[in-house]
Amino acid sequence: MKDNIEIHGLSFRPYISQAQIAEKIAEIGQQVSRDYKGKSPLFLAVLNGAFMFAADLIRACEIDCAISFIRLASYDGLNSSGEVKTVIGLQDEDVKGKDVVIIEDIVDTGQTMAHFVPQLEEMGPASVAIASFLVKREALESDVDIKYVGFEIPNRFVIGYGLDYDGLGRNIPDIYQLAD
Ligand code: 5GP
Repeated sequence: MKDNIEIHGLSFRPYISQAQIAEKIAEIGQQVSRDYKGKSPLFLAVLNGAFMFAADLIRACEIDCAISFIRLASYDGLNSSGEVKTVIGLQDEDVKGKDVVIIEDIVDTGQTMAHFVPQLEEMGPASVAIASFLVKREALESDVDIKYVGFEIPNRFVIGYGLDYDGLGRNIPDIYQLAD
């Protein structure tokens, strides 16, 4: 990994390497493949941030599966805007009777999932589980059950591996953390 990087004038330090990410995703892929053996889950990747995790996770899953993309609330700069809205909706028939696995990049306050999961449940899926690559456990305000967790991280802003800071940083293959 490189040294600190700068985005929009802020400094970020190396935090989770590409190799650690790959290892973790292989593990989660095995777990999901075991848990959903004989089933054909529908993965719902939350855009924009989860696109990279989703692409890697589904390739690590050795089961039949489908994938769709949804777009929810936006994050304003360094702080959660607290506003959750569905930008790209889902049709009830897409999820009815399906075993749905939501793929998230990061769960912070949990507000996004606390709003979205009940909406999804109304569409009649057979089951709903959440896979989040990162979880800021100490920031979690809502009671959200996250079945698959990549890394639990402290409540500090991170970028890379799909995560941005005001539009930049998504393409960085490792995770970087806001420096002091
Ligand atoms: P929550 O609703 O759980 O507070 O926030 C979830 C969303 O906030 C994530 O999907 C992500 O878009 C954004 N988010 C939360 N923490 C971070 C972070 O440290 N870095 C980045 N880039 N986005 C974050």
